[in-house]
Amino acid sequence: MTKWVYSFGEGKAEGRSDLRNLLGGKGANLAEMANLGLPVPPGFTITTEACTYFYDHDSSYPPQLRDEVAKALAAIGTQVGKGFGDAENPLLVSVRSGARASMPGMMDTVLNLGLNDATVAGLARKTGNQRFAYDSYRRFITMYSDVVLGIEHAHFEEKLEDYKERHGHVLDTDLGAADWEKLIVDYKALVEKHLGRPFPQDPLAQLWGAIGAVFASWMNQRAITYRRLHQIPQEWGTAVNIQAMVFGNMGETSATGVAFTRNPSTGVNEIYGEFLVNAQGEDVVAGIRTPQDISEKARLAAGSDRPSLERLMPKAYGEFLAICGRLESHYRDMQDIEFTIEESRLWMLQTRSGKRTAKAALKIAVDLAEAGVISPSEAVLRIDPSSLDQLLHPTIDPKARRDVIASGLPASPGAATGEIVFTPDEAEALKAQGRAVILVRVETSPEDIHGMHAAEGILTTRGGMTSHAAVVARGMGKPCVSGAGGIRVDYAAETLTSGKVVLKKGEFITIDGSKGEVLRGRVDMLQPELSGDFARIMEWADGSRRLGVRANADTPADARTARQFGAEGIGLCRTEHMFFDEERIRAVREMILSEDEEGRRAALAKLLPVQRQDFVDLFEIMAGLPVTIRLLDPPLHEFLPHSDEEIAEVAAAMGATPERLKRRAAELHEFNPMLGFRGCRLAIAFPEIAEMQARAIFEAAVIAARKTGTPVVPEIMVPLIATRAEFDLVHASIKKMADAVIAESKVGIDYQVGTMIELPRAALRAADIAASAEFFSFGTNDLTQTVYGISRDDAASFLGTYTQKGILKIDPFVSLDQEGVGELVEIACERGRRTRPDIKLGICGEHGGDPASVGFCHEIGLDYVSCSPFRVPIARLSAAQAALGKVAGKEG
Ligand code: ADP
Ligand code: MG
Ligand code: MG
Repeated sequence: MTKWVYSFGEGKAEGRSDLRNLLGGKGANLAEMANLGLPVPPGFTITTEACTYFYDHDSSYPPQLRDEVAKALAAIGTQVGKGFGDAENPLLVSVRSGARASMPGMMDTVLNLGLNDATVAGLARKTGNQRFAYDSYRRFITMYSDVVLGIEHAHFEEKLEDYKERHGHVLDTDLGAADWEKLIVDYKALVEKHLGRPFPQDPLAQLWGAIGAVFASWMNQRAITYRRLHQIPQEWGTAVNIQAMVFGNMGETSATGVAFTRNPSTGVNEIYGEFLVNAQGEDVVAGIRTPQDISEKARLAAGSDRPSLERLMPKAYGEFLAICGRLESHYRDMQDIEFTIEESRLWMLQTRSGKRTAKAALKIAVDLAEAGVISPSEAVLRIDPSSLDQLLHPTIDPKARRDVIASGLPASPGAATGEIVFTPDEAEALKAQGRAVILVRVETSPEDIHGMHAAEGILTTRGGMTSHAAVVARGMGKPCVSGAGGIRVDYAAETLTSGKVVLKKGEFITIDGSKGEVLRGRVDMLQPELSGDFARIMEWADGSRRLGVRANADTPADARTARQFGAEGIGLCRTEHMFFDEERIRAVREMILSEDEEGRRAALAKLLPVQRQDFVDLFEIMAGLPVTIRLLDPPLHEFLPHSDEEIAEVAAAMGATPERLKRRAAELHEFNPMLGFRGCRLAIAFPEIAEMQARAIFEAAVIAARKTGTPVVPEIMVPLIATRAEFDLVHASIKKMADAVIAESKVGIDYQVGTMIELPRAALRAADIAASAEFFSFGTNDLTQTVYGISRDDAASFLGTYTQKGILKIDPFVSLDQEGVGELVEIACERGRRTRPDIKLGICGEHGGDPASVGFCHEIGLDYVSCSPFRVPIARLSAAQAALGKVAGKEG
């Protein structure tokens, strides 16, 4: 026979903390606290199975439930020496929801249930405290009406405010018993008016009304939305906790509060919390009165002149501290606790693992591990890798003045300051002069990429979290605030207006992409750094992981950041990013415009020394760590000037006519550049480009090895291969260049030539390609595009709908589609290894920094992942968690 009710109280309980699925988080932990002998008001939990039954049976209860509830209720009465509905000595209870996963604020609670016109008088006589009794009754009527009868809280608030005003009261505590009695008459009339019948007086009817309301609240719109956002299944259901009331509103020796056993924003090991004297439950969070600090230290730090709990009720405080310590060591984690003090006596009402910032999470995990409470591996497992993002971008100095002029969506984390520009070309031009800019657009499109690349941050007034701006900015690792609807952009006037503030092009703004805020002026920034607790966790993580972690880095600055964050090499250097510089782009354009090979070679000769120097810098910074360099990849038209003005300028500098430039641009125009003349196709049509790049790489290897005394082993990567024949052709020209440089410099060079696997054909033909290629790097951005047939630049307009409708669980450009794209990756690994058992396998798409995708890469046995420098610690931690057996996306 199914048991629907589990009791707790007086040092024992039928439940336990590991019965969370059945009893919900709150119920399981109340039972656990009772088992520990802590002072918990007795009560019982109706299981989540009863909720499921309720929904499966047309909102009716299991037949045995009434009996079980009646027995359990009587048992509470015996324990506290009161009777439910007893007019002389009434037992009052709270009815509280509590699901398996905490859903703060989503469902409802009713306090003081059991009060009616008779029991309130009895309570007043019994306690000799009229005010307390009527205060409890008016609270009950308000809460019950709101939660169970559907009469909004605001109606009662209105009456109360009105009453206070008429009688010159300011705080609720200014009201006495007589005031509450009068208000209660009004409240009851209000209920009768709304309901057409009086406020229910039968305590048992009240109880079943509340139980039904808690079950029903599982299906309210708030709860449904919350579950969808947090992937909580509907089948879980909620439990209902019914518990004897204890009263924080019995006068000056009573209080109620909430506390964390450690500071949830810094992680410091000290009690952190608030309380109110002569108050009940929700008053603390509801902001009816300003709560007081629990500890004397916090009070002093806050400069408050209102006494701390430590001062006011030292005995209860001492007991509370001891219990906090016990709970922490029992649960082996920081706890978030609710308590009430009734006439100096302490009662525990809830405990759960406390939510915390990333910074606090690191400190708490390290402190607990160092105290021997948890193992270092457990500490590593306790940190949510994605939360580290909070710590890996420049942030606004908390001491800085924040002049917020508008807000939008926190589309891409980090903060940036710069001059306002309104066009991508301007962004590029100013960047070339070494100036920092914020690109401000109504929205962005693929034509704006060069400007987004040049900007420190991006601000749009339209578009959501999956708008083009947001997606691209996250990919680039740049801060972005999107959809700042309060800002009006006037491109013609070159102004940005938010309310009364009008800013012109060239004025400074700051965006905080982690908060979604737009600030006026320059603001001081803090650079992220990996030290202290963060470094410690990373050290432990590195001790556990098998998967290597490299970075995608194109510039010396990227490479330095990558190393600072612990990258073990560069997995992807995109050489085209070295061409965008103002001086270089002219040579690139000359090359593109040349009609013959000779002209192209002449232009390339100008690029050779600068490319070589770039590689020397990278090799030096990476000091012997592997560096994978990809040959030129993007379509050539991306390098051509855009505006007429720019075209004229370039033409003049090159001694060509603007018409010729335009003609060439028209020739290069493609209907679908993503699938066009790019990748190895460039190297095949214009071998001299790949030759120049290969020469630059080998010469740089010789120079860097001489300078540092450490041999450099470059890994040259050929992009967008579909057939082995393509690879062989490019490979041969790279080898020829290596032989030439070796002969000229008389220095031996060790190097590898491999390919990106980013086309389905390449994945399928991996066995064949591996006969020539020494390594594979999965370019999962392009592979996702080509497997789905979805262009990444155009996906924003419909992918959102796909995820909303549940067709795709998650954007496949954010987290690797393990089933489809993942299967191709597995096939390629298996076939590649069959031909070349020691083939090096890595991934260099954006997925390399996504925890779930990193877990997948671990599972299928890749050698390394490569991700943007700022995501390296996330990848290191994810790789460690995967090695420690954590399945990403699954939690207890
Ligand atoms: P939530 O999950 O929203 O925190 P709770 O069910 O925990 O809701 O209860 C709301 C408030 O009422 C809390 O402050 C809690 O401490 C208080 N409360 C709940 N049950 C009791 C009780 N039996 N006696 C006194 N206060 C209670
Ligand atoms: Mg609570
Ligand atoms: Mg690619």
